Amino acid sequence: MLRSISDLDDLQYYGKSVFMRVDFNVSVNDGVIGEDFRIRMAIPTIEYLAKRGAKVILASHLGRPKTRDQTKSLEPVAKRLGEILGNSRVSFVDDCIGNVVLDKIKKLALGDILVLENLRYHQEEENNDSLFSRKLADLADIYVNDAFSTSHRKHASTYGTTEYFDIRLAGFSLKKEVEYLSMIKEKPHKPFTVVVGGSKIKDKIGALENLLPKADKLLVGGAAAYTFLKAKGTKTGNSQIDEEHFAWVTKALKLYGDKILLPDDHIVSSSPTDSSFSLVKGDIPDGMIAYDIGNDTSRRYSAEVGGSGSGTVFWNGPMGMFEKGQYANGTINIAKSMALAFWRGSKTLVGGGDTLEAMKTAGVSESEVSHVSTGGGATLRFLAGDGMPGLEAIQRI
Ligand code: ADP
Ligand code: MG
Repeated sequence: MLRSISDLDDLQYYGKSVFMRVDFNVSVNDGVIGEDFRIRMAIPTIEYLAKRGAKVILASHLGRPKTRDQTKSLEPVAKRLGEILGNSRVSFVDDCIGNVVLDKIKKLALGDILVLENLRYHQEEENNDSLFSRKLADLADIYVNDAFSTSHRKHASTYGTTEYFDIRLAGFSLKKEVEYLSMIKEKPHKPFTVVVGGSKIKDKIGALENLLPKADKLLVGGAAAYTFLKAKGTKTGNSQIDEEHFAWVTKALKLYGDKILLPDDHIVSSSPTDSSFSLVKGDIPDGMIAYDIGNDTSRRYSAEVGGSGSGTVFWNGPMGMFEKGQYANGTINIAKSMALAFWRGSKTLVGGGDTLEAMKTAGVSESEVSHVSTGGGATLRFLAGDGMPGLEAIQRI
């Protein structure tokens, strides 16, 4: 069990500094923040700590700078956080370790919030350097991790530094993520429907191996579907095939073929730049590439998802090359059916960077799913049962 911030007595926070690892890795262009969901999801934990009289020290990475790089600064993020909270208690300091930071923390009033500069300005962060870890730990009394999406990494802020804290806790959003993902991994509400698409079968195999035995249906779309179809002997033209994982797909079809649904009509074109496209049924003609599931498949899949009763639906990976409007229909329909399933009482989970983009394209908001998993790689690793150093670090006694 994860020990979370609400498991610690309220009084223990009063007057203490809390080092909180967050994932504020948002897109910033010329100082303007794009999607700020990752900032908003940390709010409950930040406010919980601040209200109990803690000094809240927020640490994150942003992008992959190797050294100081103004375009990867967290300063605009601190500003946005202040706007969201509607108060002036948020400040920023332009480093994440050292005396300047320590002085700043000393001067904070109880309940103030300080955003540290990008952890990755120091290479020691990704190297899990012990001296750097120690310096991070010098900043605070209590360690909180609310960044599930970086918990598969053994970095100083997610792993090394925890060794120097006596109290290590999970924040609310990390806890929710672990609870939802554990539910679908171990005991999904039935019927359990998994929808998988996108292009990277490789990254999804581990998760699928764990989910397939528990799932009642696996709906396959996106480029991933063509490797499955080819393995079944359907002609796939020039559609994207993952030769490397052909053997795995063949095995999965043999073991679970009766619950795997594949597209039987497709939107095809001769190249990604060709603006003309057509709908084909069955085999894909030579030289053609499938870029979206066809209308019949889309209806069939949507009915499966939208009619999933009081079960669970997990969706990862778009049904087609949705970035181009002409190939977005299949994906948009799945997104809308996910919302329908949610309103009808299913537990619905969505994960994957591109899938979340697709939800936006479809106009389905994050409040129309039970849980939005921002984990990306971490989510798939967790579902695959692979090691999660950041979680192990806070569970350690
Ligand atoms: P996620 O980020 O949600 O995990 P992936 O990264 O696996 O999803 O896949 C998303 C990408 O897959 C998108 O860029 C999309 O254009 C591409 N894609 C989906 N279907 C096809 C297809 N039939 N052919 C080529 N690319 C596709
Ligand atoms: Mg992706």
